[in-house]
Amino acid sequence: MLKIGQKYNIGIYILKVYMPQILKFERGKMMEVIIYAIIFIIGTLFGSFFTLAIYRIPLGLNIIYGHSFCPNCKNKLKFKDLIPIISYITLGGRCRYCKEKVRIRYLLLEVLSGFTFLLFVLSLKIDILFITTNQIIDIMFYFIYISTLFIIAGIDKENFQIQKSVLNFGLILSILFMIYVCISERSAIYTYIILICMIIFLLILDTIYLKKKSNSNYTINILLLSLYMMIFTKSENYYYSVALTLLLISLKMFIQKVKVLCKKQNMTNKEKTKELKIPIGFYLCVSNIILLLVANFAS
Ligand SMILES: [Zn+2]
Repeated sequence: MLKIGQKYNIGIYILKVYMPQILKFERGKMMEVIIYAIIFIIGTLFGSFFTLAIYRIPLGLNIIYGHSFCPNCKNKLKFKDLIPIISYITLGGRCRYCKEKVRIRYLLLEVLSGFTFLLFVLSLKIDILFITTNQIIDIMFYFIYISTLFIIAGIDKENFQIQKSVLNFGLILSILFMIYVCISERSAIYTYIILICMIIFLLILDTIYLKKKSNSNYTINILLLSLYMMIFTKSENYYYSVALTLLLISLKMFIQKVKVLCKKQNMTNKEKTKELKIPIGFYLCVSNIILLLVANFAS
């Protein structure tokens, strides 16, 4: 028969043996949660940079120097106005100075990029507490890659143009990525050589076009964007992302057609042509980011 004292001793014994393990487990979990929270916050900071880049790059403004300002009242924004998500919520979605409504799109983009970065790291299924240098380099390359896609997509959606400067930046990034992949001997170099030759060919073609027409050719830029994506996306995933792009574009065209048919009478010709324009680059980028995440999770 067990006496009360003995029972107590067993309790202490269990605590002594298992408590350190429980605490250790909890501490490890806590660290993981903190790291993932930091990744989410980094994502939202990038998101806030995207809104700035999407607004400034087509206007030829500097994206690194120069204060952020309200596009309506031109007041300089202070640090407390620039905290992703939190500033938008505390200010009730309005400018602190002129009370002009800030587009909800800014908030959504911040949240979306936070989640995209977080999901990307989660999708790699790595042990975040014992992350290797190679994994960190991989993640950094893909964070920058995803960022360029976000900015290209945003500018295309707003202005129907593939921003050449961002694309060129991406092409430099992809050359660095190819060198890195070849050095770490993970992939054959042949496919990359073919891709580089195609990129150089298209760049020459675009320069010739630029001389004649003075603005970049949308189709050539879409092809360049596709090649850029092929470097960062495994071939089968790339084909899936193109298929998704086609699906999204057909869906969009169908909806637009219905819209135009519904309000045909009270639409000007200018409105009609705007309604029929499709930002192909935007759909390519969105599909590619989705496929990148889904493919990683599924593998
Ligand atoms: Zn303002």
